[in-house]
Amino acid sequence: MRKKIVAGNWKCNTTLQAGVELAKEVSNVVVEKGDKDVVVVLGTPFTHITKVVDTVDNARIGVASQNCAAEAKGAFTGEVSAEMVKSTGAEYVILGHSERREYYGETSEILNKKLALTLENGLTPIFCCGEALETREAEKQNEWVKAQLDETVFQLSADEFKKVVIAYEPIWAIGTGVTASSAQAQEMLAYIRSIIAEKFGQEIADATSILYGGSCNAKNANELFGQPDIDGGLIGGASLKAEDFIQIINAY
Ligand code: PEP
Repeated sequence: MRKKIVAGNWKCNTTLQAGVELAKEVSNVVVEKGDKDVVVVLGTPFTHITKVVDTVDNARIGVASQNCAAEAKGAFTGEVSAEMVKSTGAEYVILGHSERREYYGETSEILNKKLALTLENGLTPIFCCGEALETREAEKQNEWVKAQLDETVFQLSADEFKKVVIAYEPIWAIGTGVTASSAQAQEMLAYIRSIIAEKFGQEIADATSILYGGSCNAKNANELFGQPDIDGGLIGGASLKAEDFIQIINAY
């Protein structure tokens, strides 16, 4: 059975102190009354990872970085390598978020280097894909997402791909308050699963966790997570309030 995952992406928000408080609140509730079948992940800023790892119940909550360097080590001022992320106790790396693609010029070539380093260091990539509004309006979203995956995670071996979590995040839904309808999200996630099956076989497709992200909140999570191909969510804004995030975790 594939894993259900609810992952928060805090982006460039929270001080260290506020982040640790948030992590503590989430961890306490998850330990007390969270569904043991749901994997909870907190995607924190790099500066917070170690403290958050030390704060949460590690058996119930995983920690993610929101990026890693495309190089293993060396003279790359300001970069944080996958090996460094691993050494903090984090288990996941969010890669290919549309904000990184758009604002930091992350191409498929760069993402492939990051993917390789993430996997080499035993970290789980949460790999994002998704189309802009114009692409959706032109009804080209399937081709767009397929091309994004063809150029990146579909270049991995089957054994490597098995370690990847996919997050479909339509850009028009990220931080906009406009959520994809559960039917739109289900349709795309079923499509992604079908192309994973074409590439790596049905068994791997059936075992791959595919998340939806884009204005997922306490009100719509239940309907989204009720869809057969939606294995959880990548949550931005609503992961910054413990109460909202917990409601999303409990939406299963
Ligand atoms: C995200 O940025 O990954 C995201 C899903 O953001 P939001 O939930 O705020 O739309």
